[in-house]
Amino acid sequence: GYRKGGYHAARPGDRFAGGRFVAQRKLGWGNFSTVWLAYDTLLKRFVALKIQKSARDYAHAALHEIELLSAVAKGDPTNSKCVVQLLDHFKHSGPNGQHICLVTEFLGDSLLRLIRYNRNKGIGLSRVREICRSVLVGLDYLHRELGIIHTDLKPENVLLVSTINPSKDPVRSGFTPILERPVGNQYGGKVTSFSEKMLKIRARRAVAKISLRRVSLGGVGAEVEKERSLDGISMKCKIVDFGNACWADQRLAGEIQTREYRAPEVIIGSVYSYSADMWSFACMVFELATGDMLFAPKNCQGCNEDEDHLALMMETLGKMPKKIASSGTHSKVYFDRHGDLKRIRRLKFWPLERVLVERYNFTETDANGFADFLRPILDFTPENRPTAAECLKHAWLN
Ligand code: ATP
Ligand code: MG
Ligand code: MG
Repeated sequence: GYRKGGYHAARPGDRFAGGRFVAQRKLGWGNFSTVWLAYDTLLKRFVALKIQKSARDYAHAALHEIELLSAVAKGDPTNSKCVVQLLDHFKHSGPNGQHICLVTEFLGDSLLRLIRYNRNKGIGLSRVREICRSVLVGLDYLHRELGIIHTDLKPENVLLVSTINPSKDPVRSGFTPILERPVGNQYGGKVTSFSEKMLKIRARRAVAKISLRRVSLGGVGAEVEKERSLDGISMKCKIVDFGNACWADQRLAGEIQTREYRAPEVIIGSVYSYSADMWSFACMVFELATGDMLFAPKNCQGCNEDEDHLALMMETLGKMPKKIASSGTHSKVYFDRHGDLKRIRRLKFWPLERVLVERYNFTETDANGFADFLRPILDFTPENRPTAAECLKHAWLN
């Protein structure tokens, strides 16, 4: 991580872009970057600052993300289409190299944290519906208006919109931005005089205050106990992380998506398109409703993760049509000429509706309604899957 070519080690109070943005606290990180809450001293608002690792490939990915997010922002001047808004970008030189930085609007917790707050029990169907609407608006915009495939839709990459918006209401949110690096904090130098000692104590308090007032579901300044309660939280959310996204007409062949959210056509090495995002969407929605991943493949004895994954899909969704099973560059590795898996012979069929009732204690009505929404999106034939716009019209959401 924090070495040449890797992450930039920022600290609260550090300034960026000629002093305009001041780092407040770390919001999250990924394989490519660390993301900080920062204060924009020019426009007097909080923003998110994504500081990319510095090595060439990461820089390249950041430039690509900037290109796509610029198109996103340009096509959505009112910022109402449920995709994160890019505000600025610049380069920052540090001890580990030169880092491309993206400034985006500040958002709240990821859906992954939301699932965890609920101790993996699911967040309730009305909240799931609310989130579905936002994500589908975002996907419809990306797919139909921009021609972008996200390729990495998953709970970590969908963030709630903070209800208390510190950029609009810093007073009510009770959060004072840090404008300087706290003196003599854990990173600081020796304490000599009495006044420096006082400064050090004050700085420690400042740091403690920041870490108590964690940025959570309610946004900056929300109380810790409110983090666990979902009542009164708007379920508006936005799609983030365009590091792997691509223009549909310039897609690179090969493996896309995070394992558990990966579409069958990607696993077997067949062509993919917007409908691969729809598959990930359905996997994510199941997880929101139940707290468990829909498919969590493992390496098993005598089979690899891909084969286990395909087997899990067929156990829940029925057999993959032979035509689809044989359509990929890896088809012959996994399937025999009858379209059966070569190395996993006995499948235990457990259809989606039954899983919802028998494992997750859904009522028959809830299970049928929900499965009715999800099943068509989990069609093995990519062209049969409904588009985001079609999903928005589904009875389950209306
Ligand atoms: P990945 O390894 O998934 O590609 P990445 O390095 O590209 O990650 P992001 O996914 O963009 O980074 O961001 C990492 C994390 O930072 C997110 O999962 C989220 O927790 C937090 N984050 C990102 N953008 C924002 C934002 N605008 N507001 C608040 N938090 C954010
Ligand atoms: Mg990410
Ligand atoms: Mg990324």
